[in-house]
Amino acid sequence: MDEQFHFDTLAIHAGQDPDPSTGAIMTPVYMTSTFVQSAPAEHKGYEYSRSGNPTRTALETLIASLEGGRYGLAFASGLAAIDSVLRMFNPGDHIIVGNDVYGGTYRLFMRVFARYGLQFSWVDLTNLEAVQAAFTPQTKLLWLETPTNPLMTLADIQALCEGVPPGVLVAVDNTFASPALQQPLRFGAHIVMHSSTKYLGGHSDVVGGVLALNDEQVYNELKFLQNAVGGVPGPMDCFLVIRGIKTLGIRMERHSQNALKIARFLEDHQAVKQVLYPGLESHPQHDLARRQMHDYGGMISIILQDDEAARRMVSRTKLFALAESLGGVESLIEHPYSMTHASTAASPIAVDKALVRLSVGIENVDDLIADLRQALA
Ligand SMILES: *Cc1c(COP(=O)(O)O)cnc(C)c1O
Repeated sequence: MDEQFHFDTLAIHAGQDPDPSTGAIMTPVYMTSTFVQSAPAEHKGYEYSRSGNPTRTALETLIASLEGGRYGLAFASGLAAIDSVLRMFNPGDHIIVGNDVYGGTYRLFMRVFARYGLQFSWVDLTNLEAVQAAFTPQTKLLWLETPTNPLMTLADIQALCEGVPPGVLVAVDNTFASPALQQPLRFGAHIVMHSSTKYLGGHSDVVGGVLALNDEQVYNELKFLQNAVGGVPGPMDCFLVIRGIKTLGIRMERHSQNALKIARFLEDHQAVKQVLYPGLESHPQHDLARRQMHDYGGMISIILQDDEAARRMVSRTKLFALAESLGGVESLIEHPYSMTHASTAASPIAVDKALVRLSVGIENVDDLIADLRQALA
């Protein structure tokens, strides 16, 4: 869609032209596994829904547009999207990964792909010299999250992209920021990935994943893998993500407003040892956040006194539901050590037991603060 349009317009219109045959304003949900052919191998662009489905095409066009990329691909989950990226590589290839990532990403890399001979190095991406030192002639990919899950650490996408040797791809898991707040392709990243389960869907009613990119050759490889491996989303799931994305811009505005107020409240609270939120002046990478992000998003991590204090707090909130996941309109709270990041226990990237992660929703912020106040009392 026309590049001149702004983000909020693209979110509502890109890939979503009214249906030419009926005029339906909303993207039809093409609940079909196959498509009739007029003669063998003569069809209207669709033959079988693993290979392609018009509702999925709408989502893929939309996500490409929002990330400022030429191509989009949709998957059954965020992990299915990451899985296809990793399948581009061969035994012996080396991948550099930020040392703070989503637990499921860690599990996929170390418990699945390491068995097929991929080599991984876990590196502190805030240390550009350490990143430089980690490259080997076998390095094919740099995988990063920013902000990271759960420590809210930022990686300088542009500086990292400028430092990779030719031929090494940079992939950014943009789940926490969403394209409303950060567009990694514009900083030189080759592949952007999202768990669309989170902010893109935005309503905790669908599991999905997407990729966006510019390079035609990489796109063709990933498109081949999407069909050859088959981790594709159904048309109803694609519809739900498209519908969620329509309000992404205003949701991220409210998530960010609420989270900043809550982060300030928590920073002043005596039971809280540390607040990790890129919008706070106290965040070690606040300046980078200001350059790289349009706003700071809805995710906050805090460090309490100890494991017991953390477990106590997450069990006492009433509005903040104790649950995994994030990015929905409703507020969630969790204990990464025993929940989302349990798969990293005893690993080099294990998380602090006193850590609590908040996904701040778009409810009234005073109600949210009152809930946190009583839980910490
Ligand atoms: C949830 C999440 C994933 C995995 O996505 P699924 O949709 O759950 O498969 C990957 N990265 C981040 C940062 C996530 O929060």
